Amino acid sequence: MNQIFVSLELLQKYNVPGPRYTSYPPATHFSEDFPGPKPQVSSLKPHPPLSLYFHLPFCARQCLYCGCTNIVTNDQSKSVEYLGYLEREMSLRSKLVADSSEVVQIQLGGGTPTFLLPEEIEQLGQMTRSYFPMAATIEAGAEIDPRCLTPEKVQALRNAGFNRASLGVQDTNPEVQKTITRVQPLELVAEANQWLRDSGMESINFDLIYGLPGQSVASFSQTLEDALSLSPDRFAIYSYAHIPWIKPLQKSFEDKLPDAGMKLKLLQLTIEKLTGTGYVYIGMDHFAKPDDAMAQALASGTLQRNFQGYSTHKGVDLHGFGMSAISHVGGRYFQNHKDLSTYYADLTDGKLPLVRGYTMTEEDQIRYATIMHIMCNLYIDYDRLSAEIGIDFPDHFKEEIASLEDLEADGLIRRETGGLHVTPLGRLFIRIVAMRFDAYLQTDLRQGRYSKTV
Ligand code: SF4
Repeated sequence: MNQIFVSLELLQKYNVPGPRYTSYPPATHFSEDFPGPKPQVSSLKPHPPLSLYFHLPFCARQCLYCGCTNIVTNDQSKSVEYLGYLEREMSLRSKLVADSSEVVQIQLGGGTPTFLLPEEIEQLGQMTRSYFPMAATIEAGAEIDPRCLTPEKVQALRNAGFNRASLGVQDTNPEVQKTITRVQPLELVAEANQWLRDSGMESINFDLIYGLPGQSVASFSQTLEDALSLSPDRFAIYSYAHIPWIKPLQKSFEDKLPDAGMKLKLLQLTIEKLTGTGYVYIGMDHFAKPDDAMAQALASGTLQRNFQGYSTHKGVDLHGFGMSAISHVGGRYFQNHKDLSTYYADLTDGKLPLVRGYTMTEEDQIRYATIMHIMCNLYIDYDRLSAEIGIDFPDHFKEEIASLEDLEADGLIRRETGGLHVTPLGRLFIRIVAMRFDAYLQTDLRQGRYSKTV
């Protein structure tokens, strides 16, 4: 991808708060007044395959930039207890799933999944297999903190069926690491990467973050070089989300945060460096080697966006387990309690530990499909989408399509008779394009709910 010029004026115009569209409507719309999950009825009709997410909240230390729902502890017995509750939850949830539904995807996130001991990782794998039927081939991935990985944990992940790993690298600069209190020398990351490679993991992803305190073009360029030297199959390069009203620890480095202009330069640098090295730009924050499943999903139109970012499986029922986990099943969203004691108490009472949810309307489904097409495919073919969601797209969205004039004049999109394309410049502001199809945006913005788009 050639260098893209972005004027300061354009940056100021489009660097506004906006959702990340890991769901539609965003999770801020979930309410405590919601119907429970519908049990699937076993019938001849095939049910969607299953994607399972496990939230493992424990971390040995707190990173100051962190926006996750986690619990800091050094008490290893916490994870044993937690696994017991995960099993109760799986037992309850599996009764709602038809026997014919098979798991095609598993993801461990957190927190720090590798806080678990090797035998606990294997136990989780066995429990999952005992409650849910597995497809012949599955993608099973785990987020990994290199600071607490051991060869035994890698082997346990492999024994439990995991074939993908995502290493939390974030930034390799020692000063930046000190400021965010996540010190992990490159040698440590290289060692973890080697263990994972040697174990036969099919795909290794590196998570990096741009927009962290103290980052500059020179420092982040070196971070990218360091990461590239280890040749991961994928990169997820997230924009740092500054949300001190939810995460007050982030206030500690506010004076060192790069401004929007610098953040955009870091994103441009990332795109140039990674695409220049042969990685495919998947969209928003993901890159993959051309032979990786994610690049192939982009090419075949099966890419999807969910709470873990981009995913290679479309049309799955997503079941989230563990404190704060979100599920998306049959047009309904559900979220578990974010507080550990309430999560445990509900399960002790034999109840699903759900606190909030949302049932999508027909209009939500239409807009969800549209926003997913923009975020994942970077174009909308009006005829294809009309057939897919059963509407006359140009007629249904005539006001929205007409409102794209300024985005087209600024070079973010290109409209044609049969559809619209997001341009390379528009990829930098992809959330802005998606926001034009979001029916809830104006109300949400008045309530000041989001981090900025750049
Ligand atoms: S960034 Fe990861 S390891 Fe650090 S506190 Fe957050 S969840 Fe824990």
